[in-house]
Amino acid sequence: VETISTQVAVALMQAQAYSRLETLNHQLADLEKTQSNLIAIVGHELRTPLSTIRVCLESLATEPDMPIEFQQVMLETALEDSERLRKLVQDFLTLSRLESGTVRWLVEPISCQECLELVLSRYTSGRDHPQIVLDIDDPLPLVLVDGDGLIEVLNKLLDNACKFTPADGKITIRTQLAEKTDCDRANVQLEIVIADTGRGIEPNRLEAVFERFSQEEGFLQRTVGGTGLGLAICQRTIESMGGTIWAESRGKNQGSEFHFTVKVA
Ligand code: ADP
Repeated sequence: VETISTQVAVALMQAQAYSRLETLNHQLADLEKTQSNLIAIVGHELRTPLSTIRVCLESLATEPDMPIEFQQVMLETALEDSERLRKLVQDFLTLSRLESGTVRWLVEPISCQECLELVLSRYTSGRDHPQIVLDIDDPLPLVLVDGDGLIEVLNKLLDNACKFTPADGKITIRTQLAEKTDCDRANVQLEIVIADTGRGIEPNRLEAVFERFSQEEGFLQRTVGGTGLGLAICQRTIESMGGTIWAESRGKNQGSEFHFTVKVA
C-alpha cells in the first residue's frame, strides 16, 4: 500500500509540474508575442515620422530656392511628426510606469465639468473633426481623482472618437450617476460616456481593445496612426483610481461608446 501511495504522490507531483510548465510555456509565448508586436509597431511608428522629418529637413537644407509656402509646409510637417514621436515616447513611459506601479496619483476632489471643458477647448479651433456635443444638464458633482490622469483619459478617448469617426459624424459626451457596492459599502460613482457615430467595434473585440498593441488592422494596413497603447493606458489609469472602463458597440459602422466610472467626492 505504501509503494502504491508513493507512486500516486509522485504521479501527482509530476502532473502538477507538467501543468505549471504548460502555464509557463503559455506565458512565454505571450511575452514573445508582445515583444514581436512591440518591435514591429515601435519600429514602424518610429521610422515613419523620422523619415518624414529627415526628408523635410533635407529638402530645406538642399533647396535654398524653395518657395516660401513650400518651406512653411515642410516645417509644419516636420513639427507635426516630431510631436507624434514625443507622444509615442510619452505613452511608452506612462504605460510602463502604470504597469510597474510607480505612478503616484494626487487624488482629490476636482470639478469634472472643468476637466471636460478644458479638454473640449482643444477642439474648437475649426479643425476638421466631427461635431462634439457635451450633453450634461445639471452641474456635475466633484469627483475624487487625479486631475491630470482624468484629463489624459478624456483626451485619449476623444482623440480616438475623432480618429475613428468621419468628419460629418457626431461625438456626444454624457454623464450619469451610478451606485456601486464595493466591499459591502455603497459608493456613488459618476459614469462618463463618450459615444461616437464612427466605424464601431466588433463584439469579439470589445475587451481586446484594452490590451496593449490591440489594433484591428495590421499596422501596415492602417489608415490612421497609433500604437495601440492609448486604451491600455486609460484602463490602467481608471482602474488604479478605483473606477471601471468598458466599451460598447452594436458592431461594424454602428458607432462606439466608451464608458468609465470615477468616484464622486
Ligand atoms: P491606437 O488608437 O493608438 O491604435 P488605442 O489603444 O487607443 O490605440 O485603441 C486600440 C484600438 O481600439 C484601435 O486601434 C481601434 O481598433 C479600437 N478603437 C479605439 N477607439 C475606437 C473608437 N472610438 N471607435 C472604433 N474603434 C476604436
